[in-house]
Amino acid sequence: MYSSAKADLIAWLHDHEIEMVRLLEQAVNIDSGSHYKAGVDRVADLFQEHLHAAGIRTARCRQGKHGDCVLGEIPGQRQMSDGHVLLLGHMDTVFPEGTARARPYRTEDGIAYGPGVADMKAGLVMNTFIARAFADLGSNTPPIRVLYTGDEEIASPSSRNFTMDTARGSLAVFNAEPGRPTGNVVSGRKGAFFIDFEVDGVAAHAGVNHDKGASAIEALARKIIALHALTDRQTGITANVGTLHGGMSVNTVADHAMAQLDIRFPADADRDHLHSRIVEIIENETLPCTCGRITHFANFLPFGTSVSSQDLLATYQTQARALGFEVQGEYTGGSADSGLTASVGAPTLCATGPVGGEVHTDREYCRIDTLVPRAQAVALTLLEISSRVR
Ligand SMILES: [Zn+2]
Repeated sequence: MYSSAKADLIAWLHDHEIEMVRLLEQAVNIDSGSHYKAGVDRVADLFQEHLHAAGIRTARCRQGKHGDCVLGEIPGQRQMSDGHVLLLGHMDTVFPEGTARARPYRTEDGIAYGPGVADMKAGLVMNTFIARAFADLGSNTPPIRVLYTGDEEIASPSSRNFTMDTARGSLAVFNAEPGRPTGNVVSGRKGAFFIDFEVDGVAAHAGVNHDKGASAIEALARKIIALHALTDRQTGITANVGTLHGGMSVNTVADHAMAQLDIRFPADADRDHLHSRIVEIIENETLPCTCGRITHFANFLPFGTSVSSQDLLATYQTQARALGFEVQGEYTGGSADSGLTASVGAPTLCATGPVGGEVHTDREYCRIDTLVPRAQAVALTLLEISSRVR
C-alpha cells in the first residue's frame, strides 16, 4: 500500500499524461541546436511560460553566446540552506536549424520521433511535470529546483558555473538524460576533452619543388597516430580523431590541416597528465617547419561513483520496483552534466528521463509509455528523500 502522499503523486502524474505529450510535441518542434541561440531561447520561453502558468516562480539566467538557462523553484517546508533537490536537463540538441521543419515530431505505435525527442526534451517535460506535481501537492520537505540549460551538447561552456552553483548543497540531483533502451539509469560516466587543433606547414609545388615544402597533412597524420596511441583499454582512456580537413589541391604540398579530437577518461584517470601529453603531441614539431596548435578546448567532467550517489540509486531502484519496473545503474563512456553536479559533491543520478535511443541520429525515438512511470519513479524517490530529512 502506498501512503496517501505517494498515491497522490502517482495519480497526479498519471492524470497529466496527455498534457505531457502535448508539451513534448511543442518542444521537439522548436529547433534548438547548441549554436542556434534564438532557438534554444524559444525552448526556454516555452518551459518558463509553462512553469509560470502553473504558478511556479522562475528566474532566467541570460547568456550572451549560447542559450539562456531557466531556473524554477518550488518552496518546501524547509529552507534552501538546509539542502534542496535538483531536477536537471538541457534544452539544446545536436541538430541544426531547419531539422524540426524537415522531420517534425510524429508518433507511430506509441513511439515518438523528432530531433531531440529523447535527448532530452522528453526529460525536460518529465522534470516540468514532476515540479508541477509537487507545486500542486506540496508534499516536498526540501525545496525543489528545476534547471534547464542551453549548451550541454558542446560541453556546457556558458552554463557550467550556473549548473554547479545550482547543484551545490543539494540532497539529490536527477539528470533527466534519456533512460537507456534497457530502461536502465546511469550511475557513472567518463569525462571528455573535445579538442580542435590545426597544423601549419609550407606550401610548395608537389612536382617542381617538393623539397621546399613541409606537409601539414603528413604532420597531422603523425600526430593522429600518436594521439590514437593514447587509447588504453586497461584504464578506459580512449582517443578518436573524428574529423579532419587539409590541403588545397592534389599537386600542392599542404600548408594547412586541421582535425577534431575526442578523448574520454574515467574519473580516476590522471587528467592533468593526459592533458599535457595531448598538448605535447599537438604542439611538438612532428616534421621540420610545421607547427601545431589547439584552437578550441572543451571538457566534460567525469561522473564518478560515490557512496551518496550509490545510495540515491538504491532508493530510486526501490521506488521503481514498487511501481513495477526493474532498473540497474549502468556505466557509460558518454559524458553529461551529471559530471558537473557530482564534482560539487551532490548525490547524482543520471538518465532518469523517459526511455529512448538512437540519440544524435535521425532515428532518435522515445517511448511515450515511459513518460509517466519514469516521472513517478523520480517523484517517489524525491518524496522518500523528503521523508528522511523531515
Ligand atoms: Zn543529452
